[in-house]
Amino acid sequence: MRTRQTDWLAIIQAEHIQQIEHIEKALNASVILAKLNADGTFAQVNDFFCEISKYSSSELIGAPYTLLRSGFHPSNFFTKIRQTLNQGELWTGDICHRAKDGTLYWTKTTFVPILKDHLLKHIMTVQTDITDMKNIDMLKEIAYYDDLTGLANFRKFKMDFSALQHASKPLPHMCSLMLFSLKDYKLTMKRFGLSNAQTFLQEVAKRLREISEKFDYTVFKLEEEQFLIFLPHTHQSNEYEHIIHEIYRSFRQPILIQGHYFKAEPIIGIIHFPEHAQTFDLLLDRLALTSSYAEKQSDRKVAIYHAQMEEEHKYFLLLESALRRALERDDLELHYQPKIDLYHHQVEGVEALSRWYDPTFKQVPPNVFIPLAERRGFINDLGEWSLRIAAERAKLWNANLDRNLIVAVNISPTHFIQPNFLDQLFQVLEKTKVNPKHLQLEITEDVVMEKSVEMHTTLKTITDIGISLAIDDFGTGYSSFGMLNTFPIDSLKIDRSFVTNIQNDAKKAAILEVMIKLGHALKLDVVIEGIENEEELAILQPFAPKFAQGYYFCKPLPANEFERFIQKK
Ligand code: C2E
Ligand code: MG
Ligand code: MG
Repeated sequence: MRTRQTDWLAIIQAEHIQQIEHIEKALNASVILAKLNADGTFAQVNDFFCEISKYSSSELIGAPYTLLRSGFHPSNFFTKIRQTLNQGELWTGDICHRAKDGTLYWTKTTFVPILKDHLLKHIMTVQTDITDMKNIDMLKEIAYYDDLTGLANFRKFKMDFSALQHASKPLPHMCSLMLFSLKDYKLTMKRFGLSNAQTFLQEVAKRLREISEKFDYTVFKLEEEQFLIFLPHTHQSNEYEHIIHEIYRSFRQPILIQGHYFKAEPIIGIIHFPEHAQTFDLLLDRLALTSSYAEKQSDRKVAIYHAQMEEEHKYFLLLESALRRALERDDLELHYQPKIDLYHHQVEGVEALSRWYDPTFKQVPPNVFIPLAERRGFINDLGEWSLRIAAERAKLWNANLDRNLIVAVNISPTHFIQPNFLDQLFQVLEKTKVNPKHLQLEITEDVVMEKSVEMHTTLKTITDIGISLAIDDFGTGYSSFGMLNTFPIDSLKIDRSFVTNIQNDAKKAAILEVMIKLGHALKLDVVIEGIENEEELAILQPFAPKFAQGYYFCKPLPANEFERFIQKK
């Protein structure tokens, strides 16, 4: 570079002086030029400089260079340039300036320090207008990158994938795609607000990017908590297994945001190209399907595409429309399972459990149709229905059966956290005229354990109007006994899994005993769920639980059969 510059000077010096003037003219006509004093004020500017900056030369001369500051660069940007020049070194880079009329323009800029006796005397600046190019770059940035995480977006993925397909013709390149998402993300974020959700996603992106640096893959950010992981290699090496392992290891660590721990459980769907789908659209459709399949797995939420998923998908679509129809036509039913007071040997209450019989699908268990309604967004309607029917029953039975009977109704967490849940509850009370004391809501531990003020207020409002609250399936979620003390909870229903096989598991019996004792110490009603036989009851008796439910006492019954059952008691 240096020799080339010297060569140019030699050429110019060897030529006529007039030709230097020509060169100066040429420079003036095509390049933005200015001479600055050592203090950074303008000493001289050419016409082009005035034209682009929209200042006249008299406005510029004597004014500091920072007159053109755009605010685009960080505050120490010009200080750093200054330091370079003070050391007698050239500075070259792209600068965004603000013209007199407020518009922005970009120049490729070189500052040349002119030194005399090692002191900076003047600075020459030579610039070219690159505004159009920069605008295109910035548009590309906006078009192809995600603002929040800085990761490439779906548009970029589509472009890269198409380039890969074209490059590897006629034989398509083998590669794998993973769709990464997080269990219950929407639910958690609804509770914790938008700004926490954004910080959360940035942390998720950071973790995935860190893993991508170990393995040769690219992460793209899709909608909300969805990320696409692109493995440009043949999948035969099963490299994705290592990546999944690494992802799980990384996300075992909860994410801490403003004092809240967010547990992020990955859901990963995997598809191989071209083995599983030969076109881009089909590839993505099948990947989305694989991901929804992965979400339904009970343990590790990972699934690799297989053709059978298409069949299941069709099945669930049909099941969904049948369920919606059943709900509209009031074809669902509630069955009732008595809750037994073991101290007084009587029925203290009853739990309402949804039942759905469809002529095509036959008896569909609530463990299938409740999660389906949650996933497909109509759990509110289903929840409102069960709440209303249970309240009607509570009103009727307490009026006719000559005894107090609390009817408990299960509330899905997805339903419970809806902003209109309380309104819905008030409407049901209003419509059915049920005494709130005859109603109990069964919610899960995770809902109660959430520390937000709103949740606390909602729980308090419910108990203030007289409805009692029970924690269902206790012991399976993330609760602490310490937290229970601060919430207006009336009852703990200990999950059936603590009773199953208790005869052969001394540890289980010990845990159950402690749970019962602690529950009682916290002045809570403790209900043992799922007692199936006399043997199980006998093992539990010494722990003195007050309430129990289970097939041993009675299976859930249709309303009329329950009435007969209770009248016999
Ligand atoms: P859950 O609320 O814990 O209800 C207890 C489940 O255990 C019921 O299953 C009941 O039939 C069953 N069960 C009771 N005693 C025994 C026993 O001794 N042995 C065995 N093996 N099972 C017993 P079901 O009716 O299939 O309901 C399953 C879950 O579905 C419920 O668990 C509840 O979480 C949910 N669910 C049911 N109906 C509704 C509803 O209307 N709304 C909502 N959100 N969830 C519901
Ligand atoms: Mg329940
Ligand atoms: Mg339960």
